Amino acid sequence: MRVLVTGGGGYVGSVVVAEFVRQGHEVWVVDSLVQGHRDALCGRAELIDGDIGDSQLISGLLRRHSIEAVAHLAAATVVHRSLSEPRLFFEENLIKGLALVHAMLDCGVQRLIFSSTASVFGEPKYVPIDESHPLLPISSYGESKLAFERALAHYHTAYGLRAVMFRYFNAAGALSGIGEDHRPETHAIPAIFKAATGASGPFPIYGTDYATRDGTCIRDYVHVADLANAHLLALERIDHLRFAALNLGSESGISVRELITEAEWVTGLRVPTMDMPRRPGDPSVLVASSALAKERLGWNASRSNPRVILASAWEWFQAHPNGYLK
Ligand code: UDP
Repeated sequence: MRVLVTGGGGYVGSVVVAEFVRQGHEVWVVDSLVQGHRDALCGRAELIDGDIGDSQLISGLLRRHSIEAVAHLAAATVVHRSLSEPRLFFEENLIKGLALVHAMLDCGVQRLIFSSTASVFGEPKYVPIDESHPLLPISSYGESKLAFERALAHYHTAYGLRAVMFRYFNAAGALSGIGEDHRPETHAIPAIFKAATGASGPFPIYGTDYATRDGTCIRDYVHVADLANAHLLALERIDHLRFAALNLGSESGISVRELITEAEWVTGLRVPTMDMPRRPGDPSVLVASSALAKERLGWNASRSNPRVILASAWEWFQAHPNGYLK
């Protein structure tokens, strides 16, 4: 298929591009390069440096390249930042997302794969979280993604838009040439490596008084390669699926302290830590049920084991101590 990937220079997006290209799809990437990296694409796809809210740019691309499907990964994603800057998150994730979909509809492009998030669930009422779980986000990040999901449901009913919406749990890990490089780095695994290697101060453990087995937050880390594989399966099956919201996680949770212990095992280094107050917007536990993704897509999180994830991320970190900066 001929696919436009928004946010294709980003962490998950660049792995999705690599997977699409590997399977023979033709890919174009729109990325503003605010968070994304040109080098993450390794020349795999044509990069258009632009904004998804630029309807003229998007319509032009959709028409010129006879695009058949869009994978929409561009977003503002740092959860705690969304608490103080909701305007940015609704602008980027809802308003610009809708501009993208409107351009698609105007150009007759009816297939959308959307990167949603486990943040749509908020503080869990039960775990593992399945797709029937109440949708009660506790951050404007989660709210903005949920609002977009809800708009897509209406667009499906009214305009026949086909959409597969993936609620990612914690994307993590690396492939040989593609890894995580956020600035500033707020994500747990690269932040742990920075602390372990002395590239930063001690790793701050945000919250030690949660009602969990060791007081720290529990997360479900899913390998970025498994996420990319889900996109590939969705692209192949979207005409059959038509409209679906699917959780993507490993179905097992690991606490922040357990993650640090695993990281020490993988790196052979001690991770200095510092107990800190809770980080606003963090639910205590996020663990997925991915039964529906298995059933509807035949998806398996086969690489989503914490040790495999950490080993791949560590390999990337050692090879790219400055991320994509040369
Ligand atoms: N975390 C932490 N210190 C950090 C970064 C993250 O304790 O420097 C914790 C965070 O509170 C959360 C987990 O690690 O419970 C995963 O955080 P991350 O930012 O990687 O992903 P999120 O769950 O926010 O999407």
